Amino acid sequence: MQILIAGGGIGGLTAALAFLKAGHSVTVLERAPEIAEVGAGLQISPNGMKVLDALGASARVSRDAFRPRAQELRLGRSGARIFSVPLREASQARWRGEYLHIHRADLIEALKACVVDRAPDAIRLGAQVTGYELREGGVVAVLSTGEKVSGDLLVGADGIHSAVRAQMLGPDKPRYTGNVAWRAVVPVSKLGDYPPPETACVWAGKRRHAVTYRLRRGSLANFVGVVENPEAGDESWTSVGAREQALKDFKGWNPVVQRIIDEAPLLMRWSLYDRPELAKWQEGRVVLLGDACHPMLPFMAQGAVMAIEDAYVLARELGRGGPLEGALRAYEAKRKPRTTRVQAVARANAALFHRSNPLYQFGTYGPMWVAGRYLPAFVHGRHDWLYGHDVTEPD
Ligand SMILES: Cc1cc2nc3c(=O)[nH]c(=O)nc-3n(C[C@H](O)[C@H](O)[C@H](O)COP(=O)(O)OP(=O)(O)OC[C@H]3O[C@@H](n4cnc5c(N)ncnc54)[C@H](O)[C@@H]3O)c2cc1C
Repeated sequence: MQILIAGGGIGGLTAALAFLKAGHSVTVLERAPEIAEVGAGLQISPNGMKVLDALGASARVSRDAFRPRAQELRLGRSGARIFSVPLREASQARWRGEYLHIHRADLIEALKACVVDRAPDAIRLGAQVTGYELREGGVVAVLSTGEKVSGDLLVGADGIHSAVRAQMLGPDKPRYTGNVAWRAVVPVSKLGDYPPPETACVWAGKRRHAVTYRLRRGSLANFVGVVENPEAGDESWTSVGAREQALKDFKGWNPVVQRIIDEAPLLMRWSLYDRPELAKWQEGRVVLLGDACHPMLPFMAQGAVMAIEDAYVLARELGRGGPLEGALRAYEAKRKPRTTRVQAVARANAALFHRSNPLYQFGTYGPMWVAGRYLPAFVHGRHDWLYGHDVTEPD
């Protein structure tokens, strides 16, 4: 098949690689003039790494990654540890895959290199898809220039503001979640005596939480800070915020958190929106993938990983040889329950990390402390359904 992919982000490039590996021709239509990424980190859990392994991309992807020693939850002000469970070796042993922290730019660069190795002309830059036309036995992607590109299938991997989804289902109705997110990446060398721990660390607090972890073999610190705020603002990852506001939001917090904010070359700030489950992910020869069909709050660190899983499952369903529409429906049926569950758990995590009343904090974090200390296998077990899942296994 000739497959058109709208969007050359993490989902679009993984899908391109999976389709090329299966012997299809691919054109990635990416609106940006060059493939570039915002400076930010991503946690890629074992369920995502199993796909990248199966596609032959994991060596490139993991080259400059960081392998966190543990997963931990601390109190934001005092830094007191609520629990810490091993991750580096435990991840391989329990979930048969690595747990990595990766710079977004490194992941995109690695995926792009894998695609270009197989098909040097597969990626078309400066190509913004505005819609599509369904034809007898084919589909046409319409670009902002008016150009029409024909193929057998169009995959909408064009992210949270997807133009392909807008045509398929009408305008999107996002709900403001009442949370604003800060994001920054800082060289560890600038953090003096307060580098973040070499873990995937959540700092919990009253109506707010922060996440810190390392990137690029440990040389960079990644920071995400989430604060409840009744005022809805921009849903754009590229809006810059004021340092004074971020310092105010995390006033009195542990010096590790404050130092990152102090030293951040740039602090991005945007409002977090949520979307209800979509009625469908496919129409004729058009199908959605990744944030285009199941955007999620970042509180499970799974948005990119779910896009990676989607890509593999879609390529496999197409490879079964039945009618195309049936394959697209089977893909949706396989992916929707899992991604909907992850969306729901991510939503619930906001409440878990933002306990404001000391009694609630004790009631929630006390049992977690006990479990982390005495029953680490129990804590790990809570993630088996997510990290242990392997979409590359034959079904
Ligand atoms: C604060 C924060 C932290 C996160 N942390 C994690 C994490 O640790 N782990 C994790 O797995 N996920 C994480 N995520 C989620 C993750 O970043 C997204 O889920 C992931 O990027 C989705 O990939 P995608 O390919 O679907 O969309 P995107 O990455 O948004 O890619 C879409 C691509 O399509 C292009 N495009 C858009 N419109 C058009 C068009 N009309 N025509 C052509 N091209 C177009 C864009 O330029 C872009 O290249 C986080 C998100 C946030 C906000």
